[in-house]
Amino acid sequence: MNVKHKVLYAELTPAEFRTRLAEAPIAYLPLGTLEYHGEHMPLGSDGIQPLEFFKEIAAEAGGIVLPPLFLGPDRVEIILGAEYYGKDNGNHKSLEKQQYEPQILTGSAYWISEELFILIMKGILKQLKRQGFKILVAHGHGPSTRTVINYTSQWEAEFGIKLFNLWSSENDDWNGFMSDHGAMLETSVVMKYRPELVHMENLSQKSDCWPVGIRGYDPRIHASAEKGDEIVKIQKQRIVDKLITALNKLNCPNLGRI
Ligand SMILES: [Zn+2]
Repeated sequence: MNVKHKVLYAELTPAEFRTRLAEAPIAYLPLGTLEYHGEHMPLGSDGIQPLEFFKEIAAEAGGIVLPPLFLGPDRVEIILGAEYYGKDNGNHKSLEKQQYEPQILTGSAYWISEELFILIMKGILKQLKRQGFKILVAHGHGPSTRTVINYTSQWEAEFGIKLFNLWSSENDDWNGFMSDHGAMLETSVVMKYRPELVHMENLSQKSDCWPVGIRGYDPRIHASAEKGDEIVKIQKQRIVDKLITALNKLNCPNLGRI
């Protein structure tokens, strides 16, 4: 395989790593989880989506794709002595028809405190800086991505690495990358990249029964590989443009001051 299309960190030889790093000092970190995303979706959905997306971006804009994390922070609530994380609690701030009883959702094994997640991220940034990376694109599981966004300016100053994520300031209701949970958006992206892992037949076809653990537009009605294509296309253009601008600035630090 041509080194240009070999983008996974774990698969590169030192010589290939040096070549890719010299061409574009960009690292990509899929912020995954092992988490219930509805009966139709794989438990690794949060890692699979950014991993596949980043492989495409790295082949185009350059850079190296790190292995996905599978641990991340989330809301935690203790009810009668039991811990419930994120989507375990279906009574929280959701639309009335999407509510369900708190329960330990099958396969969800990802929760760590935000403090520990911050320490892990800082460890990763320190190691990436030491190897010469100048840009990190990190995206995935909502609470992990939000934590990275909250610390972006602090970590950029501390590590000298520019940070990007895939959320834009515009509202991405119908096209956001991983802006829902196992619903139209995430289901469509997994359908695009790994259709063999999505089993729509596992969801009840009764439209008045809302599937547990899903938040967003009904995937039974709105999800498709074509929708996934559309979401990816929009995000791809956005991030590639940003990365090319950032690389130009690295090569020419006075850019924009003339
Ligand atoms: Zn997700």
